[in-house]
Amino acid sequence: MIAPVMPTYGAPELAFEKGEGVYLYASDGRRFLDFGAGIAVAGLGHCHPHLIEALTAQAEKLWHCSNLYQIPEQIRLAERLVAASFADSVFFNNSGGEAVELAIKMARKYHSANGNPERYRVITCDGAFHGRSLATIAAGGQEKHLVGFGPVVDGFDHVAFGNLNEMRAAIKPETAAILVEPVQGEGGIRPMSLDYLKALREIADEFGILLMLDEVQCGMGRTGKLFAHEWAGIEPDVLATAKSLGGGFPVGAVLAKEGPASAMTAGSHGSTFGGNPLAMAVGNAVLDIILADGFLARVDAVARRLWSKLEGLSEKYPTVFEGVSGAGLMVGLKCIPPNSTIVDKCTEGGLLVVGAGSNMVRMVPPLIIEDEHVDAAMAIVEKAASELAAE
Ligand SMILES: *Cc1c(COP(=O)(O)O)cnc(C)c1O
Repeated sequence: MIAPVMPTYGAPELAFEKGEGVYLYASDGRRFLDFGAGIAVAGLGHCHPHLIEALTAQAEKLWHCSNLYQIPEQIRLAERLVAASFADSVFFNNSGGEAVELAIKMARKYHSANGNPERYRVITCDGAFHGRSLATIAAGGQEKHLVGFGPVVDGFDHVAFGNLNEMRAAIKPETAAILVEPVQGEGGIRPMSLDYLKALREIADEFGILLMLDEVQCGMGRTGKLFAHEWAGIEPDVLATAKSLGGGFPVGAVLAKEGPASAMTAGSHGSTFGGNPLAMAVGNAVLDIILADGFLARVDAVARRLWSKLEGLSEKYPTVFEGVSGAGLMVGLKCIPPNSTIVDKCTEGGLLVVGAGSNMVRMVPPLIIEDEHVDAAMAIVEKAASELAAE
């Protein structure tokens, strides 16, 4: 008989009762150091007092009124994101996939509004993950996400990761945009080189197409800058973000330059829940912390400690690990035995990590971790590795 919860997630056994900072407490009383952060969502850890304060204060005033009316907290969050980024304008929705879906719609609408409706195709990279809607699974192009859901939405071309010749060759008169994750997440914690990102900007300019970035996972401070593309010194035309933006409250956003944003005229898009007062109160509270002086520099510093320890472990246990990849606090440890064996051993040891493609163990801890949490986590990973090495 089918479970009441649709069986799309396997059958997890662990359940948590409470979260506090970088720790989760299971219903059986065990404490876990959470280096998964609900898949890079709890960027400020669990139950951050500043976020609780913002959410509960708003909950006592107004939950929802719809975008038929002005939402002052939404205007404020948009203004702050614009001030802190490349963007001129922001649209809020509720998830990463929805944000990417809008980016794709914007690429079409932008060219259509500029008299080029034939430009509707979007080029993406192998290994991409952009969400689970019909258009975003087509954008991702992964067979395992597409099978059984045909016909595949038209309008996507896929090129090899990091290959500029293929990218150039894929551009046609119908091309509207390039869409990439500066650091691929689900596909295996694979960072794009800064030179590749710079070249994508040049190619987009040369052909008059949009450069769109999916920073749903790598954005919002995770790499030690507000957005990962800042490391390359470039600006995209459109950017989708979500995960850590709400610190656990569902929020997504599309940030855009004036050109593509102004194609989104009144009535051309909408969201019932998007930008509602609760979500916006939390988003503003998240920004209070991420944009505070010194916060991102600290993320960078603690990330460097994590990297050097992981690189050390990878060298020490060459039969278990074969290298570290990613950026900042979005790190992948490439495994030799199936990554699930390491994920399971870490869980047993009290550390939560998440698998990712290419047999990676993914670590996307809360951005507030301290050196001592890194050291405690590494001791658990080392124990797991030494047991596996001995097998
Ligand atoms: C998680 C993720 C998405 C999808 O976000 P949802 O909130 O699950 O819809 C899209 N792109 C990237 C890069 C992601 O990591």
